[in-house]
Amino acid sequence: MLKVRGLTKSFGSNAVLRGIDLDVPKGKVVALIGPSGSGKTTVLRCLNGLEMPDGGTVALGGNGTGELRLDFGGKVSRKEIFALRDRSAMVFQHYNLFPHMTVLQNVTEGPIKVQKRPRTQAVEEAERLLARVGLLEKKDAYPFELSGGQQQRVGIVRALALRPQLLLFDEPTSALDPELVGDVLGVIKELAEEGWTMVIVTHELGFARQMADEVIFMDDGVVVERGPASEVLRQPQQERTQQFLQRLL
Ligand code: ATP
Repeated sequence: MLKVRGLTKSFGSNAVLRGIDLDVPKGKVVALIGPSGSGKTTVLRCLNGLEMPDGGTVALGGNGTGELRLDFGGKVSRKEIFALRDRSAMVFQHYNLFPHMTVLQNVTEGPIKVQKRPRTQAVEEAERLLARVGLLEKKDAYPFELSGGQQQRVGIVRALALRPQLLLFDEPTSALDPELVGDVLGVIKELAEEGWTMVIVTHELGFARQMADEVIFMDDGVVVERGPASEVLRQPQQERTQQFLQRLL
């Protein structure tokens, strides 16, 4: 479903990604963990076309939908980047809702303006998704009128409304007050159970253990260790992983 090979990215002389491989089969959840600055967010941004990688390949799709394959070692067109963005949707740490738009407008903007779907259909789908996360009665509210947990649930609905093949979560609960974290994690857990394909950057190790089919530990732009959550989090083989997990305990 998602196959990444040799992904590289530098900012100036700072080599942030130094050859990342990543496989996420359809319906599976991969959690990316690692210290601050290790490159986790940059991986997600490359997968969503928000950063242009310097090298490597990203293949997404297949299984009857036609595979999109981008080779960043060669020339990648804007059209290909838009196609990648169309197939993957990102949920941001700080929600990134449009402040001047209502909840409903935030959710329907992409489907209507970018994907050119009929307005009535986009509104119906947005209302259905908002009802699902318990926020239908907030559809005419503005982001500043919502709690962080509510804003993040709108952020998730906005991503789902794009009907992506791949959902990317960048530390979706780290900006939330502790009492609001559970609601958001609950929604993400439901999506995993429904079979969405997801990559989640998270510091919530308990959540990663519960949800992720695979955990990947990154440090300094490389994958240090990967495997089933139970193995990587309970019995890490690499010293760097052990040190990282010990610091979190
Ligand atoms: P955190 O857990 O703190 O979010 P992270 O593992 O997600 O960290 P990234 O945000 O991917 O790490 O950042 C990796 C490195 O890339 C950092 O050194 C960061 O300063 C640098 N970096 C990220 N984005 C840019 C940018 N747009 N311009 C320059 N440097 C950047």
